[in-house]
Amino acid sequence: MELPEFAIEARGLVKTYAKTKTTPAKLALNGIDLQIPRGSIFGLLGPNGAGKSTFINILAGLVRKSAGTVQIWGRDIDQRPRDARACIGVVAQEIAADVFFTPRESLEVQAGLYGVPRRERRTDELLAAVGLGEQAEAYVRQLSGGMKRRLMVAKAMVHNPPVLILDEPTAGVDVELRRQLWAYVVGLNKLGVTIVLTTHYLQEAEELCDTIAIINRGEVVACEPTSQLLRRIDTRTVVITPQEPLNAVPDLGRFEGRIRAGGELAITFKSGEAGVEQVLTAVRNAGVTNKDLATENPDLEDVFMALTYGAPTPAAPVPA
Ligand code: ADP
Repeated sequence: MELPEFAIEARGLVKTYAKTKTTPAKLALNGIDLQIPRGSIFGLLGPNGAGKSTFINILAGLVRKSAGTVQIWGRDIDQRPRDARACIGVVAQEIAADVFFTPRESLEVQAGLYGVPRRERRTDELLAAVGLGEQAEAYVRQLSGGMKRRLMVAKAMVHNPPVLILDEPTAGVDVELRRQLWAYVVGLNKLGVTIVLTTHYLQEAEELCDTIAIINRGEVVACEPTSQLLRRIDTRTVVITPQEPLNAVPDLGRFEGRIRAGGELAITFKSGEAGVEQVLTAVRNAGVTNKDLATENPDLEDVFMALTYGAPTPAAPVPA
């Protein structure tokens, strides 16, 4: 079959959760249009409750959409549900481990569920790829949290889907492991697998994803190449380490400052409207002597705040 232009294409996607005895009806997706380019590493960002999991669960067939259309790898999920689902592997948020299986058995069972013929199974290759070659015969309950998560990635890949979806894959995963997981995911992408991930590690999305969509309250606020998204907000931040600790934000005239947790004074301004020199003059006029000075370009957090809450932030948030 001819390759589709988009790995996933959603049009007018709506989800309303029905009301229950304890909760009112909830509009979780309010007509979402999303085109995820084939071959991309696509980041889906948004605050809690934005609708990210709802979107992913619709793709995975776990939640039934209320309206709209979705194609996965060119296959409509209403018309060809089995074909569509065969084209994605989904790594869920929670660690769901079959404690009575070994990793090898776990992959074999999963391959069986997907109807992958024995001779086409790639159990050893997958175990090695996620760094579990030596644990192939261990009980899953003996694996560390990070190992279990990598096993989940391997399980999502048993049927060799062209699209891999990771829902908050690195929540609670330590730095070293996160790096390993990303190395593997990037490797898969180089082999042609389209990657979709939800994360609120904004810096991670910025580093990893070539395209980013931001959703808020069930609507797409932005969807564009990462570099373009970053350029959209032409802010810069000057960070001053004052000689003497500041008790309050000094009067900086037309600039607004913010004191960070470490005591630095951060001043964010539109690069089109002012220069670093003018900011420094305002700082000097306020009687602040700077011991050290740094400038920062906007990160995704700035972009995110500006797009979801309206105006650009007066000062950069304290990085996590
Ligand atoms: P995210 O993954 O971005 O945090 P979700 O898709 O989980 O967002 O949730 C979107 C909205 O839908 C939230 O307001 C949430 O409370 C609501 N929601 C999610 N799942 C259900 C459900 N099963 N029943 C009712 N409301 C739900």
